[in-house]
Amino acid sequence: MRKQVIAGNWKMNGTIASGSILIEAFTSFLGDKDLDCEIVVCPPFTALERAVSLTKNTQVSVGAQNMDYHDAGAFTGEVSPLMLMEIGVSYVIIGHSERREYYGETDAMVNEKIKSAFFHSLQPIVCVGESLEQREANETISFIHGQLKRALQDIPADQVEKLIIAYEPIWAIGTGKTATADQAEEVCKSIREYIAELYTPNVADLVRIQYGGSVKANNAREILSEPNIDGALVGGASLIVDEFNEIIMAAQ
Ligand code: PEP
Repeated sequence: MRKQVIAGNWKMNGTIASGSILIEAFTSFLGDKDLDCEIVVCPPFTALERAVSLTKNTQVSVGAQNMDYHDAGAFTGEVSPLMLMEIGVSYVIIGHSERREYYGETDAMVNEKIKSAFFHSLQPIVCVGESLEQREANETISFIHGQLKRALQDIPADQVEKLIIAYEPIWAIGTGKTATADQAEEVCKSIREYIAELYTPNVADLVRIQYGGSVKANNAREILSEPNIDGALVGGASLIVDEFNEIIMAAQ
């Protein structure tokens, strides 16, 4: 049985002070509730260390929104997996569509980052997803399979089975337009089938596939009840305490 993962991507929002208030609100709401899902918050780099200390001994883990794949070196402005490990970060989002669109992140870089994350025992959350034009041209499935094939190049089955893949249609991110539960399930199911083809049905059965794109308290339950959707990557709503708490409760 796959455990659902609810992850909040704060993007470039919040300060250490405001982020601390948010985390304290989440963790006090969750308290010692018997939760049947993983919960991850992904603040900006500057707030990560504080987030790790505030979530110690809670049910919340901390993820970064990006990382470089090198351990160290002349890569001005980048943050390495070793630096994330040093402060106790345990997850990392890789290949978010905003990274791909604004910072030229390619599938080849995503591939290197996944390898590096596993090497350093960070849990990667790997984003894939189509544009509106691709959906309208009926290219969604073939495009996403291509992204996956390149991202997973030379990654062994015993790592792939631990992956979290986030299916995030670009047209649904931050737009208020959510994929219907049927649309999201169709793509997540096809991702699982493709992993079975690239690896084995057993690997496909273990890999967790999130949906992301305008997930809110009022649509989370329906999306999370789909058989091939194992959680949500949540942007805007993860900055609103009641919304994120309700999404977590929808995963129970
Ligand atoms: C995201 O940033 O990954 C995301 C899904 O954003 P939103 O929930 O705001 O659409």
